[in-house]
Amino acid sequence: MSQVTRRKFVQMTAAASALGTLGWPFSTLAAKGKARVVIIGGGYGGAVCAKYIRRMSADIEVTLVEQHKQFVTCPFSNTVLGGLRRIEQITHSYDKLKSKYGIEVIHDLAVDIDAAGKQVVLKGGKKLAYDKLVVSPGIDFRWNDIEGYDEAASEIMPHAWKAGPQTLLLRKQLEAMKDGGTVLLAAPDNPFRCPPGPYERASLIAHYLKQHKPKSKILILDAKDKFSKQPLFQDGWEHLYPGMIDWVSKSAGGTVKRVDTKAMKVENDNGFIYEGDVINVIPPQKAGAIARKAGLVDQSGWCPVNQTTFESTVHKDIHVIGDASIAGKMPKSGFSAGSQGKVCAMAVVSALRGLEMPEPSYVNTCYSIVAPDYGISVAAVYRLEAGVITPVKDAGGASPREGDAQFRALEYSYAQGWYASTSADMFD
Ligand SMILES: Cc1cc2nc3c(=O)[nH]c(=O)nc-3n(C[C@H](O)[C@H](O)[C@H](O)COP(=O)(O)OP(=O)(O)OC[C@H]3O[C@@H](n4cnc5c(N)ncnc54)[C@H](O)[C@@H]3O)c2cc1C
Repeated sequence: MSQVTRRKFVQMTAAASALGTLGWPFSTLAAKGKARVVIIGGGYGGAVCAKYIRRMSADIEVTLVEQHKQFVTCPFSNTVLGGLRRIEQITHSYDKLKSKYGIEVIHDLAVDIDAAGKQVVLKGGKKLAYDKLVVSPGIDFRWNDIEGYDEAASEIMPHAWKAGPQTLLLRKQLEAMKDGGTVLLAAPDNPFRCPPGPYERASLIAHYLKQHKPKSKILILDAKDKFSKQPLFQDGWEHLYPGMIDWVSKSAGGTVKRVDTKAMKVENDNGFIYEGDVINVIPPQKAGAIARKAGLVDQSGWCPVNQTTFESTVHKDIHVIGDASIAGKMPKSGFSAGSQGKVCAMAVVSALRGLEMPEPSYVNTCYSIVAPDYGISVAAVYRLEAGVITPVKDAGGASPREGDAQFRALEYSYAQGWYASTSADMFD
């Protein structure tokens, strides 16, 4: 990004965040009795949405339904694989959402939504009535789209695409692998959660192997012909890990069609077999189960929404945000989900107060760590164009390819700041 475009980007980001917080007309929020908002999913979309609704209006009751007691972030989970952080350092509590913001947090699984009766049914048997429902359940996997790759297979060939036990399993396998071993990483076709994630993962696994098992190799089998920040990643690999990472594109036979967990082999669409000592399969994805159960998805497996308010185009008064939603040109990222969470909070509060929804803007910034002191990024600001969330020209871009060591080190430190501030935006 040039100096000018970076400055423009910063201005637009500031405008976007002011719209989400300071610019909100608090004084016009006339209390009309307590409205109830239920939010399913306490991740990047749901936790932010819950908090910002409470920040905008203390007289709306907000209940957050989250199945887990703690949240392990996918962002920075690749640093756990690379040995840069421990899992405890990416694990967060919901305590402050309760104590500081007065959000009712229920740790249970939402198993059904009665859209006509405006109720959410929990596994524990409780039913929660709502005026507005926000659904941010993240992703599920399309088990068996790759033949033989089901939940049981993921215990042998981990996906580690939901952070937690799967992250630790993959880390353990890397630690147990012999020097000179091969790590296979199968990356899915678009759209999927975190487009640069597989390549950051390959980088940080390479960082670990370079230190501890330098004769080892990483083979990325890709179901695509290009990927996010590709020239920046490939420059970094050449510079930091020469000869260690090979990338096989879709056209060169990278699409994995079948896995054999007993033989530790995968087969591509031409019948060619690849063997690995550690195999990380990132399977194709779809919206989380509750969105599918409630009929919120279309034939793509994702949820169509009004891209101004994130209200479902299928069911009134149900909003879908984050990875599960079809959010125009925004990538499926944690930062996108949080930005959508703020816009959705505005939409929900506006609707409950009978106010007009201000015109939203949206933002995404995505840092990737290629090694300690070596970060790269991509950023964009978005506005609605003909009802579709569309990047604003010249209000973003990727790190310059010609950036020097100091520039990469600076971006690495920004990535740490990004993690701290997004975590605080969700949980503090
Ligand atoms: C390896 C990796 C690295 C990544 N790095 C980055 C990064 O650097 N930057 C970035 O911006 N993004 C990154 N991402 C992407 C980011 O993690 C997702 O885009 C983000 O989590 C999406 O937010 P969400 O709210 O849609 O889903 P999540 O954050 O997954 O939240 C969903 C929550 O809903 C809960 N839930 C689901 N169904 C139910 C139910 N029925 N009842 C109760 N609770 C339920 C889940 O337990 C979960 O806590 C990364 C992803 C991966 C895999």
